[in-house]
Amino acid sequence: MRSTSLEPSVAAEPPGERFGCWIDGAERFAEPWMAVHDPASEEPFAHVPVCDASWVHRAVEGAAKAQKEWKSAPPPHRRDVLRSLGQRVRAYKDALSSLLSRETGKPLRAAASEVDNTAQLIDYFAEEGYRLSGHLPLLGDPGRHTLVVREPVGVVGAVTPFNYPLSTLACKAIPALAVGCAVVAKPDEHTPLSSLQLAKLALEAALPPGLFQVVTGPGPVTGAALVAHPDVRCISFTGSTEVGKEIQRRAASGVKRLILELGGTCPAIICEDADWRSLLPHMVTQAYKNSGQYCYRITRFYVARSCWDSFLSEFVDHVVRLRVGHPLEPDVDLGPLNHPDIVRRVAEQVSRAQKAGATVRQAALPGRLKHGFYYPPTVITGLPAHAPLFCEEIFGPVTLLVPFHDEAEALAEANRSPYGLAAYVFTQDLSKGLRLAHELEAGTVWINGIHQALPDAPFGGMKHSGLGREKSRFGVEAFTELKTIYLAY
Ligand code: NAD
Repeated sequence: MRSTSLEPSVAAEPPGERFGCWIDGAERFAEPWMAVHDPASEEPFAHVPVCDASWVHRAVEGAAKAQKEWKSAPPPHRRDVLRSLGQRVRAYKDALSSLLSRETGKPLRAAASEVDNTAQLIDYFAEEGYRLSGHLPLLGDPGRHTLVVREPVGVVGAVTPFNYPLSTLACKAIPALAVGCAVVAKPDEHTPLSSLQLAKLALEAALPPGLFQVVTGPGPVTGAALVAHPDVRCISFTGSTEVGKEIQRRAASGVKRLILELGGTCPAIICEDADWRSLLPHMVTQAYKNSGQYCYRITRFYVARSCWDSFLSEFVDHVVRLRVGHPLEPDVDLGPLNHPDIVRRVAEQVSRAQKAGATVRQAALPGRLKHGFYYPPTVITGLPAHAPLFCEEIFGPVTLLVPFHDEAEALAEANRSPYGLAAYVFTQDLSKGLRLAHELEAGTVWINGIHQALPDAPFGGMKHSGLGREKSRFGVEAFTELKTIYLAY
């Protein structure tokens, strides 16, 4: 029977460990429960509550109450509390990495790197929030001044995806908290556990109760209730474009601030003068990282005709050597995909490419992998020029390779997708690289590099890839309102 009580309660014991949601400084348990599955074994290993609208309401109410005091806390105090959270994340790195690897299916070493990245992001946002300033014009009429101040936007609803649950949440919750907001987080239903642990660590770091609430449950239930709640003033969402559009429609009726980090199908242009050979291993690593469940990975490679044959053969050579295996095996490059819907969708996209006449090259999956949502690293060539797949996000270990005759053609093809998250250019001619970078419709462009992603550089998408920017001072200012005060004295 469903309990709507928010007090910690004893429910019928489901199999696996129970993780409650975090509301007003306590872990809350209630029925019904929802299973979290291990993508490598397909077995449920933990359970979290399904929070309905009444739970969400209680979480938002508590957050709004806590925010009233927090917004007036001295900025150095807010910074110190958040820095202490960063230290706790580092101290609990092993436990957090294991949990993250188990719920996402990513290799343990990749999970550890996400935990490191999360701690760095926390440190960065703690400082950047402290540096935030308003504006005071130097000159004014005698007896008059104009002050332009920044105020926290209020309660922020943070809705996050399954692929990088911890670092994505850090990019939303920490800048919001740093400037005096409160946060109600709704992690993806497949990967809620690391977010719950982060809320627990925040309390241990002396963040006052109520400021960082985490509610769990399915998107259309718990997420939708959070988005619709009238006291949530800002929604920061990372996820698919489809859900992003739905959230945008719902948020419109409450005129809410929106930050949308959505899907991508990112192109790379490999010009004929590129030093591609030395960068090829990095390109393959990046394109197949997190088993391709990665919004700004390269999905489409446009390769100059003059280097096409050697590029393709060396690319495939690297791809078939990627090691697919259980996330706990050492030196594994790719773990399983996160859940069976993703596998089905990727398999359907690859089969559609095949039916359209494309050539599909796939590495064999190791025979020892009897269970788990694994999908083999795949390279597709010869897809007809106007196949819809070029414009779709492929959220799995699959890349599309296409030769081009001239750069104008490559640019037109790269920009044909409705997405505009990230793009990549490889050339030894810097002026050509910059020209292409300006022409590419993407929020971030890398020239001759792939891996750099700095916390002080803004990140976000154009077109169907989103609205607004995360990271950097712009990603901090997003959680504030400007207020103008005309002062006569
Ligand atoms: P998703 O859109 O299915 O789910 C994201 C979140 O939205 C989950 O928490 C889900 O429960 C919630 N949700 C679903 N329906 C909802 C509704 N009606 N109302 C409110 N919340 C709802 O995305 P996913 O499958 O978890 O993640 C993959 C997607 O995320 C990909 O498209 C990927 O490109 C994108 N992504 C983008 C970025 C970026 O920075 N642009 C980063 C990571 C992932």
